[in-house]
Parts: sequence; structure tokens; C-alpha cells
Amino acid sequence: MTRIDDLPVRDELRGKSPYGAPQLDVPVRLNTNENPYPLPEPLVERIAERVREAARDLNRYPDRDAVQLRTELAAYLTKTGKYPLGLENVWAANGSNEVIQQLLQTFGGPGRTAIGFEPSYSMHALIARGTGTGWISGPRNEDFTIDVAAAVEAIAEHKPDVVFITTPNNPTGNAVPPQTVLALFEAAQAAKPSMVIVDEAYIEFSHGDSLLPLLAGRPNLVISRTMSKAFGAAGLRLGYLAADPAVVDAVQLVRLPYHLSAITQATALAALEHTDTLLGYVEQLKAERDRLVAELRAIGYQVTESDANFVQFGRFADAHEVWRKILDRGVLVRDNGVPGWLRVSAGTPEENDAFLDAVRELKKELE
Ligand code: PMP
Repeated sequence: MTRIDDLPVRDELRGKSPYGAPQLDVPVRLNTNENPYPLPEPLVERIAERVREAARDLNRYPDRDAVQLRTELAAYLTKTGKYPLGLENVWAANGSNEVIQQLLQTFGGPGRTAIGFEPSYSMHALIARGTGTGWISGPRNEDFTIDVAAAVEAIAEHKPDVVFITTPNNPTGNAVPPQTVLALFEAAQAAKPSMVIVDEAYIEFSHGDSLLPLLAGRPNLVISRTMSKAFGAAGLRLGYLAADPAVVDAVQLVRLPYHLSAITQATALAALEHTDTLLGYVEQLKAERDRLVAELRAIGYQVTESDANFVQFGRFADAHEVWRKILDRGVLVRDNGVPGWLRVSAGTPEENDAFLDAVRELKKELE
């Protein structure tokens, strides 16, 4: 049998395995930070209607610039982000993973580097590798906050072309204070200047506000967002960014023509018509997230402060072993490889109860 490494693949891909959480068929799946609620029926109907209309024109390529969709995304950001944005400030792609890939194709690449403060969203490093961008792993404090002095020093030393800041951070859950983002942005401008990408995939679940207003007067700042989490539409694959219009022009140098299918655009537009209903779930999930934090602490686990729709809990001598024991009880959580810690996504109240029952039972066994 021919294996990957028998092929003339790029050196940096040798011996590597693809990224992805296990897709296991278990009763309670709380491992990928999805929204647990299916789309409401009126939205399903509206999607069917808009897709039917789009289907008639599938003989033609879709709107390459996704003008209507970007206009509606800008309207959503303006309404919720306390900062006015238009079509020219917004770009969309197939998930924020593709947005990040396009940004690294534009601002990273061979001979260039990107830095992230780990543990953080591991796809940042993997997309860097895929685009030939060198990766620098920056430090964090014991409590998973960013060590500002050490981060500023790392930026000054390595002079990266791209700086990633994830807020709220995945997998730890904590938000990054705006003054930290500003300090790192200033350091990055003094060092290079470089692009700073703020990944706000989970911002709708945060106690604090989006950093969108920081875009004013900062063309080297980009904020990336997604419809996979708060909009409950992970299957749609729609991510977007907000930035200076020059950034939107620049990513078009690397995007594939017609990258967003007419079906995707029609579906996303239907979902945006139902923003209020979809964001209604966010309040429920935030309450469930807070309940998970409180109950895990009451059981005796350590929990990292969470501004996201998931919670990091520990500490375990062997986190993977505990992950397996929770799975044995029918609940799938995530082992992100952070030593001593596991991550659980906020599900429905019933799913969260099943998870809490499992870890309550386990606590006795672990003692
Ligand atoms: N950023 C962060 C921090 C994430 O956790 C995720 C998904 N797990 C993404 C980006 C990518 O999301 P998507 O491609 O579904 O938009």
C-alpha cells in the first residue's frame, strides 16, 4: 500500500496527520463548540426557498464578490459591534479557516513568519504550515492569560509578519482585554510593521464587547468572525472578516475566483434574515456556560474563566485517560492536548446534565 510519505510531498508535511476532532457516534457530543440547537423550522423553510431560487441560476458562476452577503454581514456587525462598517470593510469565505488561510496567503508565506500565544486555536499554526509561513509559539501565563511583557518581547525579537490573538481564546475560554490587544498591536507595528489578526470566532458569547471599534485608524488590524458558533451554522461554512478596505482588496489577490458557491451565499443570506432568533440561543448558551462553570467548581474541579460557549476544566494527572472515562459514560468532550486540562462545549440543559453527572461520578473514582 502506498503511504503519504512514499509520495513526493513537501518536507514539512512528512509524518504529519490531518487536523480534526474525532467524529464519534455517541449520545452526547460536546467536543467541537457547535451550537446544540437545530435550526428553527421557519429558517429551514427560508433556506429552502432561497436555495431553490439560486438553483435556477446554477448554470452561471455565483457573484464573485458576494456583494449582497457582505453588505448584510456589514449591517450585522454595525448593529452589534458599536462601529459602522460597510461592504468595503467586509470579506467572506468558506469558514473563518478559509479567511485565515487567505490572510496568511496574503501577508505570510515562504520566508515570512506568524506568531500565536499558545495554547490557542491550533489551526492558526497548521494554516501557517500549509501556506509555507514559519510558526512561532508565543508564551502565556499559568492561568492562560497572555503574558503581555513576554509577548511584547517575543514580537520585538522575532519581528513576525502576522500576529494572532484569539479572543475569547480557544481552548482555554478566556477573553483578552482590549488593552492587551493594543499593547501587542503597538509592539507589532514597532517591530515590523505587521498584520494583527484578532480571531473573534466566539465573541458573541463574551461578557465583553467586540474589538471592532479598534479598527478605526488601524489598517494593519483584522478581525475575523464566523457563522459556525453563535449563528449555529457550522455546517454552512461561512466565515468573514472586518478590516480596512485595503485589506479586503489585498485578500482578493489570493482568493480563488467564485470561491463562495451560490448555494452558500443564498443560505447565509437566509440565516442573516433570522439573526434575532439565532442570537436568542446565545443567551441560553451563555447561561448554560455559566452553570457549567459553577457546577464544575462545586464538584471540585478547576475551571478557567470562560467568555466562550465552552469551558476548560481540570486538572488531571492524565487528561486523556479522563477523556476516555467520560466517553465510556456516553459523553464526548475534547482533549486539546493541553496537559492536565479538558474542554467541554455548552450543550442543551439535558446534555450538560449528562456531562455533569458523568464528571460527578468520576470525581469520586479519581479521588
Ligand atoms: N477560530 C477559532 C478560534 C475556532 O475555534 C474555530 C473553530 N473551531 C475557527 C476559527 C474556525 O471556524 P470556522 O472555519 O468554522 O469558521
